[in-house]
Amino acid sequence: MIEPSIKAKLKEIVGDKYISDDPVELYCYSHDLVSRALSWIDDDYRIMADLIIKPENADQVKTIIDLANEEYLKIIPRGAGTSYGGQFLPIEGGIILDFSRMNHIIKIDTEDNFAIVEPGVLYKDLGKTLKNTGRGYWIPCNPGSADVCTIGGMIANDASGESAIKYGTTKDYVLNLKAILGTGQEIQLGRQVKKTVAGLDLLRLFVGSEGTLGVVTEAALEFLALPESFLTIIGFFDSIEVAVQIAKEIKEYVIPMSIEMVDQLVISGMNSYLSRLTPKIVLKIAKAALLVRLDGDEKATSNYANHIKNILLGNEHASDIKILRGIQHDYIWKARNGAGPALLRLTRPGRNPSTIIPAILDFSVPYSKIYILIKKFGEIMSSHNLIFTRMGHLGDGNIHFISSVTLKSKADIQKMGDLQEVLVKFAISLGGSVTAEHGCGIWKAPYLNMEFGEDVVELMGKIKSVFDPNNILNPGKMYSINKLAVFSK
Ligand SMILES: Cc1cc2nc3c(=O)[nH]c(=O)nc-3n(C[C@H](O)[C@H](O)[C@H](O)COP(=O)(O)OP(=O)(O)OC[C@H]3O[C@@H](n4cnc5c(N)ncnc54)[C@H](O)[C@@H]3O)c2cc1C
Repeated sequence: MIEPSIKAKLKEIVGDKYISDDPVELYCYSHDLVSRALSWIDDDYRIMADLIIKPENADQVKTIIDLANEEYLKIIPRGAGTSYGGQFLPIEGGIILDFSRMNHIIKIDTEDNFAIVEPGVLYKDLGKTLKNTGRGYWIPCNPGSADVCTIGGMIANDASGESAIKYGTTKDYVLNLKAILGTGQEIQLGRQVKKTVAGLDLLRLFVGSEGTLGVVTEAALEFLALPESFLTIIGFFDSIEVAVQIAKEIKEYVIPMSIEMVDQLVISGMNSYLSRLTPKIVLKIAKAALLVRLDGDEKATSNYANHIKNILLGNEHASDIKILRGIQHDYIWKARNGAGPALLRLTRPGRNPSTIIPAILDFSVPYSKIYILIKKFGEIMSSHNLIFTRMGHLGDGNIHFISSVTLKSKADIQKMGDLQEVLVKFAISLGGSVTAEHGCGIWKAPYLNMEFGEDVVELMGKIKSVFDPNNILNPGKMYSINKLAVFSK
């Protein structure tokens, strides 16, 4: 609850039009798929922000943070709200800082190949501008949410996607940024250079800090020349195990832009997506498919593609091997990135939102352990009669497991938590990480202790308290475990 006198001050800062306490709007900003489903069963999950504020510039952000420090208000920075870990949930109430007005591309410099942008710029919009600049450029991070997510959200989550195997993650493209810390201090981190070892690397500490240390108000991102061509080799397999083995063989030959594995249900989800597009593409239903994407010089990619095709042709468990180019190539990747929402349509066991929770897990494990994890996951989910899928960026050992769990009672929440914990412990025992790209937010935070040990997580908390001593920025996330996130008692 924010006092009317404080609301009046905030209105003065941004103007009447850009502040809202309309309950309908607040509700939409206060939930993700997980909390929304849980809130129908347990009132504790009825999370609600107090205010939404849309600042126009860094000065307004600074004034809001200064006021928040004086009045101990909580602030939750928000991009497009697409995070899977509940990063943007206002679990202690407070002010949602929505950056949709700070959406300007300030500069594109083709001499030194960098763009300066405000945090609310959509990755898609920056991509379009870069593609149409000069000889054509891109920033190849490409998360599955590329069409809607913001640069601020990508920086805060260190987002990446199916091209990380070759091109790395968002942190590899952030040259420098301007931010306002939880203390209200304005800082600039990094230089306009690709390479520096000067001092402690606070820039890298900031990227991936999920809005818990400071608020990004501007960032300079490096961009690369757009490759001349893209193509994808697709093949279908009668077992996931073989697909994983073949992907390793491909990786030993060349590092492609992407090596994706999808299972049978995801192939169906992709078909459901593709059925809406012309020309028609229908994928073979098999236990698994591999999508191997190459980019670069036309002649070189064709040579690599033929070699990879031959690797697949030489395997008796592979079939329907094709090289896709042009619109077919583009559609396949649209279908892959649209697979999540398509799966929700396919796997929805009922129509009642109160009882459906899509649990999305995002492990990374050493390559040799990928199939062991996939197998264990399958065994556990089958023994609970749960629908599940497996897909992932095989190239970098990042596997997503998605399941549609029907919850009817608080006891079911705990059962889901217990199940999740078994999987997390297993992935960690294999030397893996609880989240490869989606981030911790609230839902993964309880598992950080298992991954790093309590002493390391405590150290992270101490770093947070230097940047944000009053804990006003995105509280209850990452290194502090909120009771809402502890499903398993
Ligand atoms: C269909 C789908 C597919 C996805 N695929 C991928 C994927 O392949 N790879 C991947 O990494 N993620 C993926 N995601 C997760 C998510 O989309 C990305 O992490 C994305 O970068 C989040 O951006 P956003 O603008 O939605 O940020 P939000 O979700 O709004 O916020 C993310 C975090 O950033 C903080 N934040 C936002 N703006 C600022 C700022 N200016 N200063 C400081 N902190 C800020 C927020 O507080 C929050 O902690 C996917 C999500 C969906 C729904």
